[in-house]
Amino acid sequence: MADGTRGTVQETLVMARYGELFLKSEPVKRHFIGMLLRNIRKALGASGLECRYETPRGRILIYGSEPELVAVIVSRIFGIIDVSICHRTSTDLADLSAIALSLAVPRLHAGMSFAVRAKRQYKTGLNSQELGMEIGSHIYDNIPGLKVDLDTPDFEVFIEVRDFGGLVYERRIPGPGGLPWGTQGRVLVLLSAGIDSPVASWLVMKRGCEITHLYLDAGRWAGADVTAAAIDNHRKLSLWCAGNPVSLVVANSEPLFDRMSEQKVQPRYRCVICKRFMLNVASRMMAHEGALAVVTGENLGQVASQTLANLGVVADSATAPILRPLITYDKEDTITIARRIGTFDATPGDLACRAVPKMPATAAVLEEIHELEQQMAIDELAAGACTTLRFVTALDGRITEDHSDHQP
Ligand code: ATP
Ligand code: MG
Repeated sequence: MADGTRGTVQETLVMARYGELFLKSEPVKRHFIGMLLRNIRKALGASGLECRYETPRGRILIYGSEPELVAVIVSRIFGIIDVSICHRTSTDLADLSAIALSLAVPRLHAGMSFAVRAKRQYKTGLNSQELGMEIGSHIYDNIPGLKVDLDTPDFEVFIEVRDFGGLVYERRIPGPGGLPWGTQGRVLVLLSAGIDSPVASWLVMKRGCEITHLYLDAGRWAGADVTAAAIDNHRKLSLWCAGNPVSLVVANSEPLFDRMSEQKVQPRYRCVICKRFMLNVASRMMAHEGALAVVTGENLGQVASQTLANLGVVADSATAPILRPLITYDKEDTITIARRIGTFDATPGDLACRAVPKMPATAAVLEEIHELEQQMAIDELAAGACTTLRFVTALDGRITEDHSDHQP
């Protein structure tokens, strides 16, 4: 059996495939692939990996040491659909068959099923199907008792024959898809300690946005673990743009809750006023942060402040466009993404807001809210919240800087 596995592997490399960029015009595609390569380089550089790159049509080939680690890092880069560790060889059938067999031998034994997925780029010689059948026969003849199953095989081996040579691989590690980070401009994400807003942040990153996070710290009105949990969400999200530092701006919203309490604002209006305040503060920071939109994890009907009527009242306080990536998601769908991206925390601690009333208003009346806010001098409070800020920088899953009392 060993004889049939002796093919010439020239090199082991990591192949990344990108998706939607194909839909773009040539100059835009070139720009986006440039950004994708820049992001890959930065992410690998952040882990101390030096690599060499080639970009044949539709693929990025990455040569360097530690292909397993390279594959894991690149599978977290936005724009990438999947990643494979490939053995590069000649386009000769003998070499391709031998390497395919060498991958199959440790994985397959009698009674198991397999499939060969072959793709050829050019038009001479065997076509893709014939190539697959030839290589399949080689595996079949050398490992006794196998079955071919093209639908749900126990083992798959992939062959690509391209103008530069042959690639053989057995695994496709899924990437996040989307567009390269940095191709769509910057957004300011209202990031909380909860489950939704980290997912919203990840989804806009996935569509190519650079992010700045904004967290409003309600001080003694917030649960004991809220600030630490929000900072941890920020830290975890930085793993998705490795090599690029991400800022979290922390603003103090405790005076807002104190003012609502002093002025005996009906508790049922607190949630709507709180959410309006966040958008008010965010809108004031947009220009300074270079952001083009504000992002929230709001979701239709999830809580009382997110009825359709209240979402309108809340939006009225923003001067910036609002993006709500989760507006139609079921909570289960959001949780599934949160688990996959690593932001879900099963034991989040004390995150309870002390200001939430038993019966929040589900249909606040804008005129009434405006009047209450005027009595509270809300714009003065919002301007005040923007004057003393704390900045927390996260890079590659680590908090790197945390400096207080910075004036914007
Ligand atoms: P999440 O919605 O992220 O799970 P949550 O349930 O605590 O957090 P909601 O009351 O649903 O928050 O608030 C809706 C949105 O308002 C959040 O998704 C987030 O974008 C924003 N938000 C809530 N609390 C804060 C905060 N303390 N700082 C910044 N943004 C916040
Ligand atoms: Mg929520």
